[in-house]
Amino acid sequence: MLENLKERILKIADRAERDGLIRHGSGNFSMKDEKTGYICITPTGQDRNNSDIDSILVIDIDGNIIENKKGLKPTSETLMHLSAYRNREDIKSVCHTHAVYATIFAVQNKEIAPVVFENLMLGGRVPVAKYGTPGTTELANSIIEPLKVSDACLLEKHGVLTVGNSIEEAYIKMQYVEDIAKIYLYSLLLGQKEPEIIPQREFDKVLNR
Ligand SMILES: [Zn+2]
Repeated sequence: MLENLKERILKIADRAERDGLIRHGSGNFSMKDEKTGYICITPTGQDRNNSDIDSILVIDIDGNIIENKKGLKPTSETLMHLSAYRNREDIKSVCHTHAVYATIFAVQNKEIAPVVFENLMLGGRVPVAKYGTPGTTELANSIIEPLKVSDACLLEKHGVLTVGNSIEEAYIKMQYVEDIAKIYLYSLLLGQKEPEIIPQREFDKVLNR
């Protein structure tokens, strides 16, 4: 069931691995089917080299398992994915990684301010969700406030989360967060001070063009 969604998840997970945004089995991805409301989600602790379409599970919005062909466990961050879908009814996909540069900001509990125009792709700044133990309701609840203002947030001491209308869109946002974090960090080091923030009026000029 929902084979098309599973294929797309697998493709993005492969790409994330090749892009170096996920390593050592970290990171998890999901997509919601509009018709049934079911969610396709990656399994926990799975070596991606052994992953195939049957490794992807189907669950409902309460986390009940609808289909599980290989008898795997859904990702340990399932609660966080479900929280994103519950609180953002407009989205159809969730990506979570421990992308290195973005995670440096998450470790420092430092939001990624808008320093380049690519921030526009994320709705401006990338806020930090307060620390919650991985895999818990605490972490699942921590993303509610940040997702009200952005499609991307850092998870304190942990990683990054992005949401989108499709898994492809959520993944592009993940790439943007990582790129901006890298630019921000090197600017900070090179200039030995905070990079200047692009004022909203400059973003407005671009948006209104
Ligand atoms: Zn994680």
